Amino acid sequence: MFMQVQRLIETVTSPRLVIDLPGSFVNHRVEILVLTLDDHQPVSSGKKRTPPPQFAGRVRELGDVMSSVPPSDDANRPVPGLHDNPLAYWPIYPQFLRDRFTRAFTAGLHDPHARIRESEWRATLMQLRDAILYCGQCGAENFYDGESLRANGGQPGACWSCRQPLTLPFRLRLGREVIMLNHDTQLYPHHLDPQRLYDLSQLLAAVQQHPQNPNLWGLKNLSAVKWAMTMADGTIHDVEPGRSVGLAVGVRVNFGPVEGEIRI
Ligand SMILES: [Zn+2]
Repeated sequence: MFMQVQRLIETVTSPRLVIDLPGSFVNHRVEILVLTLDDHQPVSSGKKRTPPPQFAGRVRELGDVMSSVPPSDDANRPVPGLHDNPLAYWPIYPQFLRDRFTRAFTAGLHDPHARIRESEWRATLMQLRDAILYCGQCGAENFYDGESLRANGGQPGACWSCRQPLTLPFRLRLGREVIMLNHDTQLYPHHLDPQRLYDLSQLLAAVQQHPQNPNLWGLKNLSAVKWAMTMADGTIHDVEPGRSVGLAVGVRVNFGPVEGEIRI
């Protein structure tokens, strides 16, 4: 489905708005959404906006987009056939991201304390980046969703693209964060040093295939400091810069400022 988008910013001086559109819009149904950019007084949420009388019978109202409604209210649901993108994408994203959007566009619209602060968006999007995993069948990027995993008895569900069951990769648990250890995962100060959040300037670790045995994968120490790894049997080994930790369940790695554990 192709979609043309025309965005205009105009000062409206009368209730009648005339819009000039490129000829390519002619003979298409379009959705017209008009927002004020300088309204300092929030509109009472109890007041429903209605189309001007001259449009009576010519427009179909698809919910009151100016009011935020809780997820339990179906009034503003996307309409199949008209809003297919949100319908397709919403279920792909993990619950933690959907929760942020829901809060931002419901309670966050009215209660300043419920808004999502910039720092929370940044942390959420870094978490989303670390949640990417690849479908073993078609290679499509999917997201790890810890909450739905717990709710489904550890079953990761199906790939959104090819519908085949997903297989989870090794994962690194660092504090409360979980990072997918994909074939191309790289770790930065953001991951390994709590004092350097959002710092992706320096490559500190990367997942790599064993040079002799392609079935073995490791996390290579690309930093300048020695790590310490604790095997599942409790033995401790140094991981010098340039050396790797073999990916295996239960291995703990002390990176210095933080300690992580490899899981599957
Ligand atoms: Zn797939």
